[in-house]
Amino acid sequence: TQTVSRPGAGAHTPLPLDVEAIRADFPILSRTVRDGKRLVYLDSGATSQKPRSVLDAERDFYENHNAAPHRGAHQLAEEATGLYEAARAKIAGFIGAAVEEVVFTRNTTDAVNTVAYALSNAATAKEPSFRRYAVGQGDEIVVTEMEHHANLVPWQQLCERTGATLRWLGLTDDGRLDLSDLDTVVTERTKLVAVTQQSNILGTINPLEPIVARAREVGALVLVDGAQSVPHQPVDVAALGADFLVFSGHKMLGPTGVGVLWGRYDVLDALPPFMTGGSMIEVVRMEGSTFMPPPQRFEAGVPMTAQVVGLGAAVDYLQALGMEKVQAHEEALTAYALEQLQAIPGVTVIGPPDTVARGGAVSFTVEGIHPHDVGQVLDDLGIAVRVGHHCAWPVVRRYGVPATTRATFYVHTGYDDVDALVEGVRAAQRFFG
Ligand code: PLP
Repeated sequence: TQTVSRPGAGAHTPLPLDVEAIRADFPILSRTVRDGKRLVYLDSGATSQKPRSVLDAERDFYENHNAAPHRGAHQLAEEATGLYEAARAKIAGFIGAAVEEVVFTRNTTDAVNTVAYALSNAATAKEPSFRRYAVGQGDEIVVTEMEHHANLVPWQQLCERTGATLRWLGLTDDGRLDLSDLDTVVTERTKLVAVTQQSNILGTINPLEPIVARAREVGALVLVDGAQSVPHQPVDVAALGADFLVFSGHKMLGPTGVGVLWGRYDVLDALPPFMTGGSMIEVVRMEGSTFMPPPQRFEAGVPMTAQVVGLGAAVDYLQALGMEKVQAHEEALTAYALEQLQAIPGVTVIGPPDTVARGGAVSFTVEGIHPHDVGQVLDDLGIAVRVGHHCAWPVVRRYGVPATTRATFYVHTGYDDVDALVEGVRAAQRFFG
């Protein structure tokens, strides 16, 4: 258990997770960077590192069970199907969903596009039962100014395809959603509200209850972007009350190339497919085809089987740690990082200044130093952060900065990583001062 080592730091919560033991599970954390420096990886928000159990699960799949699932009459195909579906069941359990409500996609982006294209395809679907959620002229889609481009651009494009109008909820000066005009933005014309549960740039954890309640009042669907929440806090789809939850495997210790679209079964069942081809069909004739029920309807082609199996192993790893503990761990780190960074003259945190409803993404600017230069100095010290607009351009614009430096925390992050970051920022100030 790590406690705070930094001179002058007050009494801080001992970290709930055993950082040293966890680090030993991540092979990449034993390598050094920039001429022998310890890797201080503070970029899990972009993509997480992978524990050995995830790497082993993928390797084991390829070495011992590799075949295309749901095809073939041989033993390997049977084993591959079993592993693929067992991973689906695991992931369903992780978010409190029914197994047939879990659709595998490539990532969050793919999952959002699957829903957005389903809604526009619905308008011209031959099958009347697929037209229920069709979006067209006069309809409105509501997003927020806080969205990652992955949960913004597909909705802009849906509006362009259909003639619908995009509306959005704004932000307050302290980095929270401004819900004061919720009832005038979400109206009877709203077909879908798309909102992130946790901001990738501000760290804000959004209050979804009033948004879901308002959407229910007007009969709109709700899609929750869980790319930054599912990896970091317990998420239960029943408690969420939304219609869709989307997230990426690679941000939750899993492999790249696999994401999840969870949808309420009755809603998924009323949607036409986005991608079509093999695996998702019921009957194919030259004149036309019919489609499988969910989740297969949305999984065209041979799936990313090894990655799905790897994601199953990632879920096992997170569940063994306990998601409440993961969240508490990041909260303690965030509190410490906010305190230490805000004590540096010239450093401004962009986002909620305290840990109330806030996760472990800390964005900041350093007066007089461009974030890219801050990132460069940190990199020279072996500290990996992200700099730029973080695929949330409207957010940096809203706060009047060209870019930010962002540190994100995860299960292997310790107070020593935060100390390194704080020292690194001071080094940047000395270098450019
Ligand atoms: N939504 C949020 C909040 C994110 O942070 C990200 C990735 O950074 C995405 C969506 C897109 O995820 P992916 O690139 O894995 O599709």
